[in-house]
Amino acid sequence: MTTAQTLLSTVFGFDEFRPGQAEIVDAVAKGANTLAIMPTGGGKSLCFQLPALMRDGVTVVISPLIALMRDQVRALKEAGVSAGALTSGNTEEETEEVFAALDAGHMKLLYMAPERLANSGTHNMLRRIGVSLIAVDEAHCVSAWGHDFRPDYLRIGELRHMLDVPLAAFTATADQETRSEIIARLFDGSTPETFLHGFDRPNIHLKFEAKNGPRKQILAFAQEHRGQAGIVYCASRAKTETLAKALRDAGHNALHYHGGMEADDRRFVEAKFQSEDGLIVAATVAFGMGVDKPDIRWVAHADLPKSIESYYQEIGRAGRDGGPAETLTLYGADDIRLRRVQIDESLAPLERREADHGRLNALLGLSEALRCRRQMLLSYFGETTEPCGHCDLCENPVEIFDGTTAVRKALSAILRTGEYFGAGHLIDILLGAETDKVREKGHDTLPTFGVGKEYSKREWQAVFRQMMGHDLIRPDPERFGALRMTEAARPILRDEATIDLRKDTIQQAKQNRRPAI
Ligand code: ADP
Ligand code: ZN
Repeated sequence: MTTAQTLLSTVFGFDEFRPGQAEIVDAVAKGANTLAIMPTGGGKSLCFQLPALMRDGVTVVISPLIALMRDQVRALKEAGVSAGALTSGNTEEETEEVFAALDAGHMKLLYMAPERLANSGTHNMLRRIGVSLIAVDEAHCVSAWGHDFRPDYLRIGELRHMLDVPLAAFTATADQETRSEIIARLFDGSTPETFLHGFDRPNIHLKFEAKNGPRKQILAFAQEHRGQAGIVYCASRAKTETLAKALRDAGHNALHYHGGMEADDRRFVEAKFQSEDGLIVAATVAFGMGVDKPDIRWVAHADLPKSIESYYQEIGRAGRDGGPAETLTLYGADDIRLRRVQIDESLAPLERREADHGRLNALLGLSEALRCRRQMLLSYFGETTEPCGHCDLCENPVEIFDGTTAVRKALSAILRTGEYFGAGHLIDILLGAETDKVREKGHDTLPTFGVGKEYSKREWQAVFRQMMGHDLIRPDPERFGALRMTEAARPILRDEATIDLRKDTIQQAKQNRRPAI
């Protein structure tokens, strides 16, 4: 039998495997059920194409992306491999050609859109042609709560039963919940050999800052990268325009980009960014899909992204060429409130909203991380690593203090006022400020009134923000964003758990004139 290594160079023209590929190829080739989680661009397709050549019979590849299937088929054919695709985009001749190759018995890889599986003729055909492996690309499409749900993916489990052959599933979506759904639905709950690789992008420097005059913070970061191509992600269309202008006023070459612009204008910005050196684009997340510029040297988030996955994807646009790249993500209590409300007000089912809160929580946890940020990011994706030495927290370790008492006082202020108020009023109570609202509500008679004088207003704002970051409190959209306690806070309130908070964001708040949130 030809070895994987030989095929790698003779058929695919590569000298060596990328990290993780060799192990996956081995497992798939020997017929194990496998689940491989690799970031986009990590080289997934090789991990089923190569085993397909090592095994007898046909490998069926299920993929939702027609253009991608056609590209792969073309590339395989050029490399001398018999491959074909059955998609809605086929011409009659193409389909004929596929069936002829199947009948002749030399087809190695048959690509298929999931919709085909709804057709009973397809099942009969697959039974006939001697399938020896099913490969599922974009396997997260089987997850009902994910963003790319394809109901026809649910038929794959049934197909595996019928053909009784091994199945190899591939995805770039790494969260635990999606993984469990893939295992339940594609593998009938029996655990496949699982591989998780390559999420680390060591050339990308990670940094977060609490918002503290955000425009100034972004301008300072851009200044450090004057003349280098960068993206500034913003949460709103309006902000892309104001920030691009502020950058131009500061002498940068900057444009804005968002989904509300005319298609021609969008293409103009994309092309200019691609071809010019040192252009900055202030954009919503709409900017990115079509962007494949290898030398983006920096990415900044003027607002907190919506989940840890989005964060990873957006910073991942920097440094594709492997050269050094820097990132800065700003976050504040307003962002957290905005993202929570967006999730709560979406029309998604409850479970989906809970999952989205979970993904946001993971990002908030990362914002308020106490130790190596990369380690925490990678551990979310399931990779265990040493502290990286190349993130803001490795370079400047933060001081931590026991914030249990402060958190308990804040929770008590929330509960004693019936979970009906926002941070501003609650902080007034803690500080013993006799505002009109405090007097009007009779909150100056609460036992909590004035118990928090050891901190300033800004310090309390930082405590509240960290509490949101740890998901101890959440704004209630039905009460105009009033803060309510979550179940996670109960053990702290009951004296059953303690909580560490970061001192730096609090001290930082103390040193600056502007409010930290
Ligand atoms: P994805 O994981 O996003 O599906 P692909 O399978 O399309 O990624 O691979 C991404 C790129 O990496 C392709 O251009 C592919 O040719 C290249 N590639 C894959 N494996 C190797 C390898 N071992 N050595 C060099 N390049 C590779
Ligand atoms: Zn680190």
